[in-house]
Amino acid sequence: MSDFVMELPPHVEFILAEMKKNGYSAHIVGGSVRDAVIGRERSDFDITTNALPEQTKAVFEGYRIIETGIKHGTVTLVLDGEPYEITTYRVDGDYKDNRHPESVTFTAQLEEDLMRRDFTVNAMAYAPDTGLTDPFGGRRDGADRLIRAVGDPYKRFDEDALRILRALRFASVLGFRIEEKTAQAVRERAHLLVAISKERIYAEFKKLVMGVDATKILIEYADVLAPSLGGIVIKNLPKKELFDRAEAHTRFSSLFLLNSDSPAEHSYSAFTELKTDKLMRSRVADAIEIYGSVTFRDVRTTLAHFAGYGVQTSLDALSLGILTERFTEREAQTCADALSSAIPYTVSQLAVRGDDVSALGFKGEKIGDALKSLLYAVIEGKVENERDALLAYLKDCE
Ligand code: ATP
Ligand code: MG
Repeated sequence: MSDFVMELPPHVEFILAEMKKNGYSAHIVGGSVRDAVIGRERSDFDITTNALPEQTKAVFEGYRIIETGIKHGTVTLVLDGEPYEITTYRVDGDYKDNRHPESVTFTAQLEEDLMRRDFTVNAMAYAPDTGLTDPFGGRRDGADRLIRAVGDPYKRFDEDALRILRALRFASVLGFRIEEKTAQAVRERAHLLVAISKERIYAEFKKLVMGVDATKILIEYADVLAPSLGGIVIKNLPKKELFDRAEAHTRFSSLFLLNSDSPAEHSYSAFTELKTDKLMRSRVADAIEIYGSVTFRDVRTTLAHFAGYGVQTSLDALSLGILTERFTEREAQTCADALSSAIPYTVSQLAVRGDDVSALGFKGEKIGDALKSLLYAVIEGKVENERDALLAYLKDCE
C-alpha cells in the first residue's frame, strides 16, 4: 500500500464503508483523487465500484437515489442534499466515428476501469483500506505537472477526439505541460475534433479559457483550437494579468476582437455553431459591437456612446475596454458607477409615463412640465425613480 493518505469528507467515508460492509469494493476516482494528489482544493467526489447499479441502489435503500445514467452504470446518491455519483467499473467497447464507444460493459476489475480513462493523473483511485491505486504513474506525472495520455495517445484520441481538447483544458486549468508524445498526438489528430458534438466542445473550451494558463495554451495550441472558434487563429491576446481577472464572456470577446477583422459577426456565428446559450452568444458579440464606437474623453461623452444599449451590455463593453487597455480601470469604473446608479437623463427614462401623469389630472402642456420637474427632482435626489414614489411626489406638489 502506498504512503498516500487522503482525508475524506464524512459522507464519502460513509458511502465507501457502506459499500464495503455489503461486500463490494468502492473507491473515489478521477478528478477528486488527482486534485488531492497535487494538493488542489476540491469539493466533489466521484465514486467507482464493482457493484452493479441495481446493487448500489439496494445498498442505499431508503436514501434518495437519482438514476442519472443507469445505462452507463451511474446512479446519484443524495446525502443531506449533496449529490454523489457512484459508477460501476466500466470498459468501453470499440469506438466508432472518433467519439462514442459502441457498447459499454461492466467489469469487476478496478484496473480495467482506470485503463479507459484519459490521462494518467485522471486514472487513479483511492480508498482508505487500499490506499492509492495508480497503475499508470499518475502521481509521478502530477508531481512533474504533466498531462500524459493513458496508453498510446494516438489510439486514445482516435477513440474519442474530445480528449484532444481535454488535454488542453487540463493543461490550462492545472497549469501543467502536455507530455511530448501526447502533445504531438494532439497536433496530429486535431482534425478529428470535427466529429465531436459542439456542446461537448464548448463545455471544455469554457473551462480552458478560465484556466490559470489559458493565455499560454491559447497561443501554443492556436492551430488546434481554430476550427472550434470559427476558424480564428489566436495570435494576439490581452495582458495575462488583465485576462486572468476578466469574466468568461469578456475573455471570449477579446479573443475575437484582437484576432478577427469582423469580430462581432465572427463571434456570433462561431458561438451559434458551438450551440452556446443565447445569452452568452449575444453578450460576447454585443460588447464587441459597442466597444467599436467607444473612446474615453469624459464620462458624459462616453455614456453617450452607450445610449440605446442596456446597462449590462454597456458594462460588458467597459470590461472589454479594461481588458484591452482602451480604458484605465479608473475611467471604466467612473462610467460604470454612473451607469449603475441609474440616474435618468431624459424623461423617457423615468419610471412613469405621460399617461400616468394625465391620470392624476394633468392636461396638455402641463403633462410635459410635470415630467420635467420629476426628472429634475430625481437628478437632485429629492425622490427615487420609482413609480409610486414619483406619483406621490407629484401629488404633494400640486
Ligand atoms: P473536473 O475537476 O473538471 O470535474 P474531472 O477530472 O472530474 O475534472 P470530468 O470531465 O468530470 O473531469 O471527468 C471525470 C473523470 O472521468 C476524469 O477524471 C476521467 O478519469 C474520466 N473521463 C471523463 N471524460 C473522459 C473521456 N472523454 N475519456 C476518458 N476518460 C474520461
Ligand atoms: Mg468532474
